[in-house]
Amino acid sequence: MTTTGTCQLCGKDAVLEESHIVPKFVIRHQKKTSATGYMRSNKAVNLRAQDGHKEHMLCGACEDLFNEWETPFSNHIYYPWASDQKHQSLCELSYGAWMLKFAVSVSWRALTWYMKKASDEQVSFSKEMVAEIDKALSTWKRFLLGELPHPDKYQQHMILLDAIERTTYDSDVLPSNLNRFLTRGIYINLAHSDGKPQFIYTKMGKVSLLGFIGIKYPRQWVGTKLHVKEGVVGGDISLPSQFMDYLIELAKTVPELQKKLSERQIDVIKRTIDGNQDRASTSETYRMMAADIDMFGESRVFSK
Ligand SMILES: [Zn+2]
Repeated sequence: MTTTGTCQLCGKDAVLEESHIVPKFVIRHQKKTSATGYMRSNKAVNLRAQDGHKEHMLCGACEDLFNEWETPFSNHIYYPWASDQKHQSLCELSYGAWMLKFAVSVSWRALTWYMKKASDEQVSFSKEMVAEIDKALSTWKRFLLGELPHPDKYQQHMILLDAIERTTYDSDVLPSNLNRFLTRGIYINLAHSDGKPQFIYTKMGKVSLLGFIGIKYPRQWVGTKLHVKEGVVGGDISLPSQFMDYLIELAKTVPELQKKLSERQIDVIKRTIDGNQDRASTSETYRMMAADIDMFGESRVFSK
């Protein structure tokens, strides 16, 4: 069955392909590294993306264009970072001109999808907010089509995450799924405050992407901005503390894996914590659950 309509990027009437809101290789990798081999499909509470969500958005030519940017991103950034379990050995990863295009393509897809879903669910935003979001979307679209040299104030920022090594937060105030949340799963969320949009957040496993919409002080974000021609991600960065608070709040909205574990699963987790389990044979889910237990204790992680 084919669906025809107007391509949301180039505006031509054409046969539309099913586009993944979050690139397919991200979904595939998350499945491959999870404990069960498949992903849980979350209910769309808080307008979260369902895993592997697809929309008829783009014509074949625009879909091909997106693929050209996705391939180098997956090879040079996503896989090297996602598969590095020691994470000290990889400090910085370099990128070329494909990076900003890729990032804008994800933020544009995510925000377009988010606004459609919000309207379907009759979530209303202020006129001011919608106007600002429309400006961001049209700027991103023009950048993707090559009509603008850069996305102007609608910057893209990328953060590579892993399990937390130490924190100045009191662990009592942190959700006990924090390490799993930071490194696992796919989420899309529109951050806003006081009726003003801040950024569209797309979390692709251990890679976090922010498309700025109304960030007042972008200079507070040090070392995360993606540049037009080339640059590096990872290494030393500095983020406003409100962003960590945002992630903590978001983690609390995820009803995380509170199902009963089998004896065998508990055994794997315990051996992972003790360091007796060969890391290569341990799924990322187990590794991150072990990190949560290490940080918050078994009773909190397994409590209902
Ligand atoms: Zn098109």
